Amino acid sequence: MANTPYPESYYAASANAVPPRPALQDDVETDVCVIGAGYTGLSSALFLLENGFRVTVLEAAKVGFGASGRNGGQIVNSYSRDIDVIERSVGPKQAQLLGQMAFEGGRIIRERVAKYNIQCDLKNGGVFAAITAKQMGHLESQKRLWERFGHTQLELMDQRRIREVVDCDQYVGGMLDMSGGHIHPLNLALGEAAAVESLGGTIFEQSPAVRIERGANPVVHTPQGKVRAKFIIVAGNAYLGNLVPELAAKSMPCGTQVITTEPLGDAVAKSLLPQDYCVEDCNYLLDYYRLSGDKRLIFGGGVVYGARDPANIEAIIRPKMLKAFPQLKDVKIDYAWTGNFLLTLSRLPQVGRLGDNIYYSQGCSGHGVTYTHLAGKVLAEALRGQAERFDAFADLPHYPFPGGQLLRTPFAALGAWYYGLRDKFGY
Ligand SMILES: Cc1cc2nc3c(=O)[nH]c(=O)nc-3n(C[C@H](O)[C@H](O)[C@H](O)COP(=O)(O)OP(=O)(O)OC[C@H]3O[C@@H](n4cnc5c(N)ncnc54)[C@H](O)[C@@H]3O)c2cc1C
Repeated sequence: MANTPYPESYYAASANAVPPRPALQDDVETDVCVIGAGYTGLSSALFLLENGFRVTVLEAAKVGFGASGRNGGQIVNSYSRDIDVIERSVGPKQAQLLGQMAFEGGRIIRERVAKYNIQCDLKNGGVFAAITAKQMGHLESQKRLWERFGHTQLELMDQRRIREVVDCDQYVGGMLDMSGGHIHPLNLALGEAAAVESLGGTIFEQSPAVRIERGANPVVHTPQGKVRAKFIIVAGNAYLGNLVPELAAKSMPCGTQVITTEPLGDAVAKSLLPQDYCVEDCNYLLDYYRLSGDKRLIFGGGVVYGARDPANIEAIIRPKMLKAFPQLKDVKIDYAWTGNFLLTLSRLPQVGRLGDNIYYSQGCSGHGVTYTHLAGKVLAEALRGQAERFDAFADLPHYPFPGGQLLRTPFAALGAWYYGLRDKFGY
């Protein structure tokens, strides 16, 4: 039987201890079968269990094996597309609902951490850092926009103020969101999985769904067992492969890479990020970084379209880190890894239903830590018959990548090259 371990990341090396979970070897019956134990699957499972559903989660590898256990750990609110772009595409009523939900995922994470006592180094405060005056102008209009939807906690920072929170001279200003913040992402997923089990849910690891028998009484097959369910939630995101061909056709897995330094010590760590906020810059191909609980710098950036694993991650990401923090030139990199997120052409999440009983959410295109927690709630609402918020997502228009599966990678890379050039020359 396959035994897929975690990638060798800092998170896997510092994960909280958890009991091993079995692979599915029987024929089981449940209300909802969730495919994938990342944040989307775990958040869905938790909300459903809290509302009286019986839930079985199938995970191909281990809890948090995908992006949820490898990401930058940044609690970034809203979506990977601005609300005004959404508004122009879908009109004011739907945009109003989506705008109101834009900061809910961060609240859900905090509620989960408090309610289930999850130890995941939660810290408050996230900074969007502007490298150019144009980016600063965009942050100013974004603040006005978010305030229109009731999100009024944001603080604009001028050049002097941003230097108080990050010792990097690249930035002309920024915006601080105290409802943003950061977490140890794998420990959050592990804590949520424990919460699922504490409510009577079952999680099978090393149990990939290999076939879905659709129909009035759907059945999910794994190599050694099957789950009969009233509903299925597909939450495999960038790791789903071709299990559900309709979903693979309109999305593209992409890789992004993260490195982690050796522990910096309190003094150096405090000099870089005195308030321990996390930071992401405003470039299209953005860099993001933060301190870990044991005072390492965790730095991510770069995108590999089509999700091939790059050979030397440190060689790609370390120069970016040194550009931001040249003072770290003698610091050793202890960990480097890659992970996949799922890109959609609109960069908005794809949410919907196939037939009467197969639900899915995927493709938040980068900013997924908060959105996936919201998605779990919205999917659970839909299964309970309250579909207004689900419909607001499900009605977003989506298109296949030009060129189909064969050419979507070069086309997307071309688009990114163009935006990368714009970043470089400050357009
Ligand atoms: C390196 C990296 C850094 C990132 N940094 C940030 C960040 O700082 N902030 C932010 O907001 N977002 C970030 N993201 C994005 C964010 O992590 C993702 O959007 C989010 O975690 C997606 O969660 P998910 O549950 O939908 O998917 P995943 O976490 O990928 O989970 C999918 C799970 O499904 C399982 N699976 C797949 N197919 C099957 C199957 N057939 N049967 C059973 N199980 C299956 C997989 O093994 C996997 O565990 C980052 C992503 C990456 C890769």
